[in-house]
Formats: sequence, C-alpha cells, structure tokens
Amino acid sequence: MYCPVCWNTETKVLDSRVTEDWKSIKRRRECLNCGNRFNTFEKYEKISLIVEKNLGKMEEYNEEKLYWSILKAFNKRNISIKIIDNVMFQIEQKLLNKRKITSRDIWAYVLEELKKVDEVAYIRYASVYHNFQNAQDYVDFIKKN
Ligand SMILES: [Zn+2]
Repeated sequence: MYCPVCWNTETKVLDSRVTEDWKSIKRRRECLNCGNRFNTFEKYEKISLIVEKNLGKMEEYNEEKLYWSILKAFNKRNISIKIIDNVMFQIEQKLLNKRKITSRDIWAYVLEELKKVDEVAYIRYASVYHNFQNAQDYVDFIKKN
C-alpha cells in the first residue's frame, strides 16, 4: 500500500469498515513518513467455497460478511486492526483449498482465533453462535470454557 503523496509504503490503519455493498473493506490510512491521510478500498483474495448452513441451505462463502461479524465482536474493544486482520487471515488459511464447509466449522475457526486474542470478543461471538438467551447462559459458557 503506497502513500499517494510520497510513495512511502509504511502506513498505519486508522479505521476499517465494510463498504455498503459488502464488496470491499474501506480503510483510512495514515502515511508514517509524511502524515498524509488517505482512503483505500481493499478486497480480500477471493476464496471460492460453498458454505452449508443450517437445514442444508447452501451459500457462497462471503469474506466481507465474515469480516464484518468479527469486527462487530471487537466493537469498542480498542484492539488494533492489525490483530483483527490477522484473525481473519488465520481463519482464511484454514479455508483455502477447501471446496465445501459447514457454517458451524467456520464459526468454530472464528472462536478458536478469537479465544487467542480477546476474551470479550470471543464470548460475544460465542453468544451469537450458541444463541444465548440470558445471563445464566453466559455464566455457564464461561465456566465450561
Ligand atoms: Zn506519505
């Protein structure tokens, strides 16, 4: 990623969000050389994969949706975008070379990675996955994990 002003390659990511059409990630970057701030639109390397959802429903793998769900788990956690990107990277490493996977497996990969980096994000993600209904569900989950 080059700074459009000085062509330095060292930049810092200030903010990261999924575009409204879900097709790319919009990043606000700051050049570490000249301080110029600019936006980039980035795409992840396309992974062609069929995801089997609940009740046998098939869907094409959508990395933006997955990335967005992970971003949401980190909401207000003050975690570097680099760490979140790395979580995404580690998950996608496991998806490469696969043709078909269940959504359950993907969620398990996400939880595995979140557990390594942030407990709150991990529990948030698990709460959606396990469909927690009340505080007791959280307590039970935390005890078991
Ligand atoms: Zn620059």
